[in-house]
Amino acid sequence: MTSSEHDHARSDEPASVTLLGLGLMGHALAGTLLATGHPTTVWNRSADKGADLIGRGARRAGSAGEAIAAGSLVIVCITDNNAVRELVEPRAAELRGRTLVNLTSGSSSEADDISAWAAQHGIAYLDGAVLAAPDGIGTDEAAILYSGDKDAFDRHERVLRRLAAPTFLGERPGLAALHDVAVLTMMWNILNAFLHAGALLQSAGVSATALTPVLEGGISTTTGWLAGYAEQIDAGVFPGDDATIATHLAAMAHLIDESAAQGVSTELPRQIKAVADRAVAEGLGQSGYAAMISRFRSPE
Ligand code: NAP
Repeated sequence: MTSSEHDHARSDEPASVTLLGLGLMGHALAGTLLATGHPTTVWNRSADKGADLIGRGARRAGSAGEAIAAGSLVIVCITDNNAVRELVEPRAAELRGRTLVNLTSGSSSEADDISAWAAQHGIAYLDGAVLAAPDGIGTDEAAILYSGDKDAFDRHERVLRRLAAPTFLGERPGLAALHDVAVLTMMWNILNAFLHAGALLQSAGVSATALTPVLEGGISTTTGWLAGYAEQIDAGVFPGDDATIATHLAAMAHLIDESAAQGVSTELPRQIKAVADRAVAEGLGQSGYAAMISRFRSPE
């Protein structure tokens, strides 16, 4: 930690923060830092962005290097990690002794690689995954997952908390990116199920608006099962005492038939049943639903 980082960690003064990238997300992050009283220096590749932030007190740096030099905490949020590497690698000298927080979406191996590069150059590195849209930044709804340098997280937690509820997941830099895709697979599966359900009921003249409260109740029931299933997965024990996979399988066949009868796509129900078919073929028919984790552990 540099002496200036020490000073910020101890003082009640709002820390100076640098924001590299003023796209939709970077702009929201910078706006929240300004609104919470942090001296904020901004830089964007195209200089036409962020005029309103300057009007609200942000300082526009003439170059990325000048921006980095202005803050002990440097946040980068741009399109992808190739762009991040292009931006930060030539500026290792300016970044040395500072903390780099990368809120750009990317893969876990990219995060591991950037972290290794940062360590070689004396840069504290945190990788972050933003679980919010830009208009959620700075509200109670927003969350950001972090992984990497724990000391850097502890030093800057107060600032990071301004942006969104922060969770530190562990020291392996790629953990935030891995959790990000875990959340996304959950999100897209729920959304596709919602759309399939909407098409199914629309075919019977029920509006999506009328259907939604019923589905929300179903989601709530299902999420109530997750903690128990997680314990089963961690223990490797899958009692079929709520419903066996064989029982689920029969209902899945019914879902395919009903979808076909209503003239809507059977693609999603067939995928769902294919997983259960293979689990039953492997002898898991009398196990509980979470036993199908084995179907997801290996490639197809
Ligand atoms: P965006 O509005 O498209 O902005 C992209 C930003 O990246 C712009 O500032 C752009 O600069 C900059 N950029 C691209 N290539 C660059 C390069 N080679 N060097 C320097 N700057 C470069 O994207 P965004 O919505 O802000 O998203 C930024 C990151 O946040 C992405 O990784 C995204 O996945 C993540 N994220 C976004 C959301 C969301 O809802 N928007 C949610 C979670 C995570 P120019 O202005 O010069 O083009």
